[in-house]
Amino acid sequence: MNKKLKEKIEKNFAFRLNQNQCQDLERLIFEIKRRQNISTARLIGYLKINSGYSKQTGKNKFLALKNCLIKYRYPLTSFYADINKKKLFLNKIQPVLKNNWVVKKTFKPAALFFEKETRGSYLVKNFQRKFPNLKIRQISTFKNYVKNNQFKTAELKKPLVFITKETRDFLKPCPCTKKHLGCGYWIFNLGYGCPFDCSYCYLQQYTNSPGIVLPANLDDFFKQFDQFEKKLTGPVRIGTGEFLDSLALDHITNYSCRLISYFRSKKVLFELKTKSGRVENILKEKPASNIIISWSLNPKTIIDSEEKGASSLKERLAAAKKIQDAGFKVAFHFDPIIYYKNWEKDYKELIRLLYEKLSPPFAWISLGTLRANRQLKPIVEQRFPESDIFYGELFIGEDKKLRYPRFLREIIYTKMFKWIRSFDSKTPLYLCMENKDLWKAVSTLKTTKSIENYLIKNNL
Ligand code: SF4
Repeated sequence: MNKKLKEKIEKNFAFRLNQNQCQDLERLIFEIKRRQNISTARLIGYLKINSGYSKQTGKNKFLALKNCLIKYRYPLTSFYADINKKKLFLNKIQPVLKNNWVVKKTFKPAALFFEKETRGSYLVKNFQRKFPNLKIRQISTFKNYVKNNQFKTAELKKPLVFITKETRDFLKPCPCTKKHLGCGYWIFNLGYGCPFDCSYCYLQQYTNSPGIVLPANLDDFFKQFDQFEKKLTGPVRIGTGEFLDSLALDHITNYSCRLISYFRSKKVLFELKTKSGRVENILKEKPASNIIISWSLNPKTIIDSEEKGASSLKERLAAAKKIQDAGFKVAFHFDPIIYYKNWEKDYKELIRLLYEKLSPPFAWISLGTLRANRQLKPIVEQRFPESDIFYGELFIGEDKKLRYPRFLREIIYTKMFKWIRSFDSKTPLYLCMENKDLWKAVSTLKTTKSIENYLIKNNL
């Protein structure tokens, strides 16, 4: 704990703090100050009047202060229910990273590494053509590169490119999250890392190397899918965009053209999911009823502050319009929905704008409120010191992820459903990574299978 703060508390409340107590109080005070314009002196004054500390002794003095700060820190949740302290995540204050690599709007790789087996591949050639001065180096394998090259969190977004030959991780069911209802989605695992830099992006927590991994052996992916398809008993939904935005680098990889050509004849709904406005490659392709191009949307104010590097709201909607006009199906993801002071006004306006620019029905719309593993929060605090989203009323949920409390998620989903339904009665709506309780509040669907069928039957 900041020495001065410790001294102030000990002096004002006449007791000694141990290390864990220091961490809890410092974290609560830090977050209250981030949320509200209040000085430490005024906060101490508030605690003196409201905590009832003077009637307590020893450890109970600390608890009186902590309880009072919790109420101040989580005003909305305290109003609705008693807060379970075990569900709080009061992590140590992290120093802000120096020299954090900042993403640029236009992607320009700093270096390209290619695995021996991808020498001469179209991907390596495309990068060479687009970036003639690019430093290029052959490596044995990406795995070995990672083993021998330590990296610092500040370098996480250094624009390195790795062209690889994928050998095993081609396709997998979306793991969803523990104790929540999945939607039966399959992930076509094409690429890892992303040139965008969303503050809430979970990749930050899993990445073991800076840069973007792009497999050059698409034909092997297709061979794997041919095998997988033989075992299918009915259509499924499948897409890229889970570990790399589907279109952010499409002007270099040309993945979309090959994916659309391959999947158009398959009995699946294939989705390309993006926050990009780059759709020139898709516009070269003939539309097909099972190909869906989707955009993640957020109000302008969230895009500007939390989705660095991604296209603006205007660009995303303009791209979606072009794609819809060309005859493709489009879909949208309100994910992550962030709760903040003006969220109602901003999300309502976002929905109005969507329906002003595009014509329903869409293939689907998903909704998911902000959620993240606890380990992500300290990384975000170090990399995005200006971001406030993790100082919202987030608690450790059933799946151990930080989430808004159930009552708040219900309010958000109910309102969003209502606003969307006021424009559009047909587009299938679904929740992403939500539990049965929340599904019950907005829908009659109760199982993964019924959700999957609902989304498929409306599109085939
Ligand atoms: S677009 Fe998706 S994958 Fe890329 S940084 Fe944002 S959240 Fe992460």
